[in-house]
Amino acid sequence: MKITEHIKNANRKTLFSFEIIPPKKGNNIQDLYNNIDPLMEFKPPFIDVTTSREEYVYLDKGNGLLDRKITRMRPGTVGICAAIKHKYDVDTVPHVLCGGFSKEETEYVLVDCHYLGIENVMALRGDAMSHQKYFEPSKNGNHYAKDLVEQIQNLNCGKYLHDVIEANHKSDFCIGVAGYPEKHLEAPSLQTDLKRLKEKVDAGADYVVTQMFFDNQKYFQFVEAAKKAGINVPIIPGIKPLAVKRHLQLLPQVFKIDLPEDLINEVELCKTNKDVREVGVEWAIQQSKELLEAGAPVLHYYSMGKSDNIHKIASSIF
Ligand code: FAD
Repeated sequence: MKITEHIKNANRKTLFSFEIIPPKKGNNIQDLYNNIDPLMEFKPPFIDVTTSREEYVYLDKGNGLLDRKITRMRPGTVGICAAIKHKYDVDTVPHVLCGGFSKEETEYVLVDCHYLGIENVMALRGDAMSHQKYFEPSKNGNHYAKDLVEQIQNLNCGKYLHDVIEANHKSDFCIGVAGYPEKHLEAPSLQTDLKRLKEKVDAGADYVVTQMFFDNQKYFQFVEAAKKAGINVPIIPGIKPLAVKRHLQLLPQVFKIDLPEDLINEVELCKTNKDVREVGVEWAIQQSKELLEAGAPVLHYYSMGKSDNIHKIASSIF
């Protein structure tokens, strides 16, 4: 079922969902199942599966020289979506990226999803590769998420890349896109970024999932500003419990988000990362309670491959 239908059928009751990342290449999928199993108690109507873009890795040739190879460290998004959908009878949302894929490759991914009965996709640009300063699209690839949304919409209309054949079996993907309550790191201003978000919605996006935030006011203001800008699709808050002390530097640096002073002070007082996890869980519980009271359509948690903290939060909320 489509995410938008899940939200509609919930009749204003807030839903629970989460995002997982595929195992590193060559690792067993059982670890992933072990993390998903306990969360199924909270009946998520859908689970998101991230996609990683390819990266350069350097392999030692044994003669003192390094060989540069392109690899995808966590492949298998669509396969994992299909496996989870089948195992748990839950909708899955593969993340589809511009970066690292040509439009043809993207079309193949979408055709696979369609055959597998996957009805939702999250359309994202992806980040620059680690050696690049700015994002560069792949050869024949989409540049912005909006272009990817357009490609998916075209497919929904039976318009394939090489219009040799008239498609008689169209896809009907429900499309999610990313939104940034504290603006995307490359955007010159929140207002410009909102304009870009509106373009994605106008191109056919059906719902928005936000970047993590630790101050709910940022989300509430963002939803208000989005409405004013004419964005009338559900905006799902993305919640990440802080887990290690290093997050104090890492999260603002990588995602260009602010951490509230109270949270920073509490984490700084922690002696161990176990203490930090407890503070992070408690903070996320308070955030979730307020978002639930405010009528957020879904509380969507970033699990980063570990479910015990999400389980603690969900136990207090759902
Ligand atoms: P876009 O919407 O294309 O925007 C990127 C930037 O370009 C923004 O600054 C925007 O303002 C600007 N822009 C847009 N259109 C134009 C234009 N026409 N001209 C000039 N500027 C423009 N990354 C992954 O690699 N894998 C994942 O699975 C993944 N999942 C994510 C899930 C969520 C919920 C979120 C919030 C992010 C996720 N990301 C993921 C990270 C995401 O790929 C990065 O944040 C990326 O830098 C931007 O992606 P986007 O889809 O928001 O890009």
